[in-house]
Order: sequence, then C-alpha cells, then structure tokens
Amino acid sequence: MTEPRYELIQGDITKLDVDAVVNAANCGLMGGGGVDGAIHRAAGQALYDECEKLPFVRAGVRCPTGEARITGAGKMKCRYIIHTAGPVYGGGDRGEAEKLGNCYANSLRLAAENGVESIAFPNISCGIYGYPLDEAAKIAVETVRRVCAGLPSIKKVIFCCFDRRNFDIYKNLLDASD
Ligand code: ADP
Repeated sequence: MTEPRYELIQGDITKLDVDAVVNAANCGLMGGGGVDGAIHRAAGQALYDECEKLPFVRAGVRCPTGEARITGAGKMKCRYIIHTAGPVYGGGDRGEAEKLGNCYANSLRLAAENGVESIAFPNISCGIYGYPLDEAAKIAVETVRRVCAGLPSIKKVIFCCFDRRNFDIYKNLLDASD
C-alpha cells in the first residue's frame, strides 16, 4: 500500500492548491468566524447557497458534531470543501476526543468517496472551540495516519496551521513518527 504523503505548512488554508479543503465549520453550516469565515469569504456566495441546500438533520443542525458534508468550492481553486463540525471543548469528559477524531476520519472517508487525492486540514476545534492544542494535534495525526492506511487513493494530506504554536506542535509530532 502506498503511504500517503503528509505535509505541514503554516499559512492560509484558502490559498492551497489541493483537491479538497476541510472547513472547521459549525453544525448549522452557515458560516462563522475563524477559518470558516475565511473559507466563506474566499469561496463567495456560491458556497453559502450550496450549504443552505444541505438538509437539516434536526433543528439548526445540518452536520452533527464529528460528521462531515461535502460541497463545491465556489471561487476557491480547490474542487471541494469538506465541512466538519468539531466539538466545543468542555473539559475532556464529554466525548470530545472521539468526536474530534471522527471529524478527521469522516472527512477523509468522504474525500475518498469523491475521488479526492489531496486534502488540507485546519486545526479543527483549536480556535473558538477551545481544544487544547497538544491533545488536538495528537488526535489529528494519529487519526489521519490510521484512516489513511485504509484509503490508498488519498495521496497527500496537508496539516495547515495558521499560527506558529500549532505548527511547532505538529512538527514535533510528525518528526517523531517519521
Ligand atoms: P473552531 O471553531 O473549530 O475552533 P476556528 O476557526 O476558530 O475553529 O479555529 C480553528 C483553527 O483554524 C485555529 O487554529 C485557527 O487559528 C485556524 N485558522 C483561522 N483562520 C485560518 C485560515 N485562513 N487558514 C487556516 N487556519 C485558520
């Protein structure tokens, strides 16, 4: 089996040349702050329109925490946006770790189902949702490695960190497991 290539970059995820960009969205999928806002600004109205058409699974919820949904990417150069709703960190005893892992796993599975070969992840839940950075990074790297082992069509996964602190955490983790 071909091991997918993992890359680490520090920068703006909306600028990346990949098949799919993952959005750390909220359950309603109608935009927000942080990376969600940046993606919606870059993609433009078409992305709002597409998100709005996705069905509600219950009041206010188009994408339950840990699940993922796929849309086109409007004006962005990638083909798809994969929206996933990370958990709000509430101390760690509310199933946050499992839910965060599910975000990465479900995004990758949805990507593979849609023929995506390259995908970029932001640091899901590490902004407004308050997840401790070290723990979130460990979950991200472990889950991506485990799930990608069963998804050979995914050739490249980019961990896109916006800030230096997350970049350094990921660098240590990825170097240690090389
Ligand atoms: P959440 O609600 O899941 O915590 P946020 O968008 O608040 O989502 O933060 C998630 C991570 O995305 C944070 O580490 C934040 O620094 C980062 N981020 C914000 N804007 C961008 C961007 N344009 N590209 C990549 N990452 C970004």
